[in-house]
Amino acid sequence: MGAIPELPDRTDTVVVGGGLVGAATAYFLAADSDREVTLVERDNIAAGSTGDSSAILRHHYGDDEIYTEMAHWSHQFFREFEAETGQAIAHADSPMVRFGEEGTAAGDYAAAGYDALRDRDIPATWLDGDELPDAYPMYDGLEEFDFAVSDDTAAYSDGADAANGFARAAADAGAVVVTGVAVEGIATEDGRVVGVETEDGRVDCDEVVVAAGPWTPELAADVGVDVPITPTREQVVILDPGDDYVEAFPELTPTASVPGGEWYLRPDFGDNVLVATHYLTEETDPDDYDDTPDEETLLELTDVVTERIPGLADAGIQGQYCGVYSTTPDHDFVLDEAGPDGCFLACGFSGHGFKHGPAVGRIVRDLVVDGDTDLVDADYFALDRFDEHPEGHGKPADNV
Ligand SMILES: Cc1cc2nc3c(=O)[nH]c(=O)nc-3n(C[C@H](O)[C@H](O)[C@H](O)COP(=O)(O)OP(=O)(O)OC[C@H]3O[C@@H](n4cnc5c(N)ncnc54)[C@H](O)[C@@H]3O)c2cc1C
Repeated sequence: MGAIPELPDRTDTVVVGGGLVGAATAYFLAADSDREVTLVERDNIAAGSTGDSSAILRHHYGDDEIYTEMAHWSHQFFREFEAETGQAIAHADSPMVRFGEEGTAAGDYAAAGYDALRDRDIPATWLDGDELPDAYPMYDGLEEFDFAVSDDTAAYSDGADAANGFARAAADAGAVVVTGVAVEGIATEDGRVVGVETEDGRVDCDEVVVAAGPWTPELAADVGVDVPITPTREQVVILDPGDDYVEAFPELTPTASVPGGEWYLRPDFGDNVLVATHYLTEETDPDDYDDTPDEETLLELTDVVTERIPGLADAGIQGQYCGVYSTTPDHDFVLDEAGPDGCFLACGFSGHGFKHGPAVGRIVRDLVVDGDTDLVDADYFALDRFDEHPEGHGKPADNV
């Protein structure tokens, strides 16, 4: 085992937060620039939202094509993770299906996403209503849907695995990765960042990237920047479907949002099924929230899932926990330089940041080093969209 890295007195760029986003950003900066990089995490790598993530890797984003672009770029990176970084991470294929009804906003969103995938040669299948019962035999009641869109090469990974992979790869590329040290403030002089104050002393630097998940607003406020993030609580249950179900449906289930509820489900490693809420509304304290799903929610889950997938009626509960989203008013990210020069924000991932982690890391690297990126139009993620319109771009029709 190597020596535990110490906080340097000076570095070029400090990245605050060792979730997927901070770790990916530290990796791309260290591997693809001449910056000296220090990643500072107050707890362990993946201690925040990332460690609780369902880590679904889909490409379908309705007509929000900027996300399809980033998800596709990121998924290619995830598939090549070991070749790119030297670190192995968990990855399992699981097509994602969206059931659609014509003439509804969700149906239009599903259909638009099908076109966006086909335009980019991302494998996708259109199923007519009469094909659904045979295609998804574990489901009941699919007659009510007119069609479904399958994002055929969707997959899932593991949050802690991916963030630790990026953190180790960042260290291999020369970054200093320090855990167990909190950043307490950002030091500025003449309108630009000159350092960060930590509980273990000051680190001088030219730039800081704040990737502190739901804790980002408190650090940003320190330099007079208002970031509209509401931490929201989500609930996750891991079901053990039992041998008979696994034998009848070896693929367990497609990844899907469960019709009739604000839930999604996907297969999980080890023949389990993960079911989770996607409420985006239950405001919470990220330092003090109930980590056990509510009884009422478990009852609703039982009703909704067993109505749709009767074979799961007798599934056992293998595990349960809750996690926190960093929710913005429009559920879109904030990737921007804001406040003092050299202060970059990468936050507001609103329950869908995992699948974009590699692209976000690359984009933030580009903003810090080059001032712009050619991966996407990063203006879309500018913080000042909330200045005139507090609702930003407005909420998407669907973004499970
Ligand atoms: C239950 C759940 C399910 C999800 N499912 C999916 C999914 O299926 N697909 C998908 O794409 N996304 C999903 N997400 C969202 C995704 O996981 C997040 O968007 C993503 O992990 C955010 O990563 P992050 O690095 O921005 O934040 P975080 O993982 O929260 O990391 C922030 C880090 O900053 C550290 N920190 C905070 N303050 C300080 C400080 N002052 N000094 C130093 N360090 C500090 C924290 O300890 C933490 O480790 C899910 C999220 C949850 C909670």
